Amino acid sequence: MEKNFRKGTLCVQGLYDPKGGEARVLPIVQSTTYRYEDSDEVADLFDLKKAGHMYSRISNPTVSAFEEKINALEGGVGAVAAASGQSATTLAFLNICQSGQHIVAASTIYGGTYNLLSTTFKKLGIEVSFVDPEADEDEIIKHFKENTRAIFGETIGNPGLNILDFEKFARIAKKMDVPFIVDNTLATPCLCRPFELGANIIIHSTTKYTDGHATSVGGVVIDGGNFNWDNGKYPELTEPDPSYHGIKYVESFGELAYIIKARVQLLRDYGCCMSPFNAFLFHLGLETLHLRMERHSQNALKLAQFLENHEMVNWVSYPSLSQHSSYEKCKKYLPDGASGILTFGIKGGAEAGKELAKHLKLVALVVHLGDARTSLLHPASTTHRQLTKEQQIASGVLPDLIRVSVGIENVEDLIEDFDQALNKMK
Ligand SMILES: *Cc1c(COP(=O)(O)O)cnc(C)c1O
Repeated sequence: MEKNFRKGTLCVQGLYDPKGGEARVLPIVQSTTYRYEDSDEVADLFDLKKAGHMYSRISNPTVSAFEEKINALEGGVGAVAAASGQSATTLAFLNICQSGQHIVAASTIYGGTYNLLSTTFKKLGIEVSFVDPEADEDEIIKHFKENTRAIFGETIGNPGLNILDFEKFARIAKKMDVPFIVDNTLATPCLCRPFELGANIIIHSTTKYTDGHATSVGGVVIDGGNFNWDNGKYPELTEPDPSYHGIKYVESFGELAYIIKARVQLLRDYGCCMSPFNAFLFHLGLETLHLRMERHSQNALKLAQFLENHEMVNWVSYPSLSQHSSYEKCKKYLPDGASGILTFGIKGGAEAGKELAKHLKLVALVVHLGDARTSLLHPASTTHRQLTKEQQIASGVLPDLIRVSVGIENVEDLIEDFDQALNKMK
C-alpha cells in the first residue's frame, strides 16, 4: 500500500495490505520463531545480508506492521518498537552515545525521562546538561562540549505544556552537527510531524495516545534518515561492528544505518522488545488516532475556557489559549489542535487538589495520560515527587498544579463534573 495517503487513511489502513483469503485485520503472530528452508538462509539473515524475521526479540510480523504504520505517519525511513517509552528513549540515545559522552536536553521533559537521563545515564558515564528550552540559541550552545552527541526536547513539555521551538533546536543541532531527538508522545503525528520541522529521531511512549485506551505499555523509535552520521563523531555507525563480522552500518545501510543498528545490535542485546499482542493493540489504537486527537484537542480547549472563568481556579494553562506563553509556537507547530493535556492551579493549593479528586464523579485520579477517559493528577505529590523543589519548578511543576488529561467524552458532561466538584469546595 502507498505511503503517501493522507494521515487519516494511514491511521485506518496503515500499510497492512492482505492478499486474497488472508485476514482483513492484522493477525497476532504469537510466535517466537520462524521456519527456514535451509541453513544458508539462516546464515544470510544472521549476517544481515537478507531482511527477514529471525527471532521475535529482534522482529516479529505483528510488531513490524505497527512499526511500519507509525513510521509512515511520522514520515520516517524506519522504526523500532520497544517494551515501553522508557526503553525506546534508552535505545534512541544508547544507539549513538556511550560512556564519556554528553547530551544536551530540555529541562522541561517528562519526569521519567529526567530520571533516566540524570541518574541512570550518569551511572553509565553519560553526562546530560539540562537547559531551559526558552533560552537563546547562544545560551543553549554554551552547554555543548566536544563530546556532545545529541540534543533532545519534547514537542509539548509535560506538565509545563511549553511547546518546543523546533526551528531553534534544529538550527542548534545543525550548527553543532549532532542529531535533534524529539519525544512526540503528547502531540502524536496527527498533530505534529517533527521530521518536517528539522528533527532527526522521534521517540514515542505508545502507552499514551497511540494506545489511547490505557491497555498497554510500549514505545517506539523512528528514524528520519536525515542525519549524516559520517562526520567523525559516530564511529559505532561508521566503523566495523565485530558482533556482525565487521559490518559497517552506514556503508551497508545508508540512510537506514541508525535504525538498523538500533534493532540488530541494541534490541538484540538489551531485549526490550514489544510483544506481538501489545503491537496489535497499538496498531488498533492508531486506527482512530486522527479522530481521537481532534476530539481530545477540542474538549481540552472547551474545558480550559470553562475553568478560566471558575472562581475556584487561580490560573489555567493550555497552549492554544491566547495568554499561554507558547501560544505563538502553538499556532505555528500545532495548527490542528494542542492535544488533550491542560493544567490549572486550584485555590487552596495541594490540599485542595487532593480534595477535588474526591468530589469528581466522571474524572478519575490516575497516573496516566492520553486515555479516552478523562483523568487528573497532582504531579508535585505523585509523578514528580522524586525531584527536589528546584527541579520541580524547573520542569514546570507548581505546588497547586492539577494536570488534566482530557478524554473524548461529551465535553458538557466533563464541564458539569468539574463545576459541581469545584463548587463543593467554595
Ligand atoms: C509516559 C511518557 C514517557 C515514558 O513512557 P512509558 O511508556 O511510560 O515508559 C516518555 N515520554 C513522555 C512524554 C511520556 O508521557
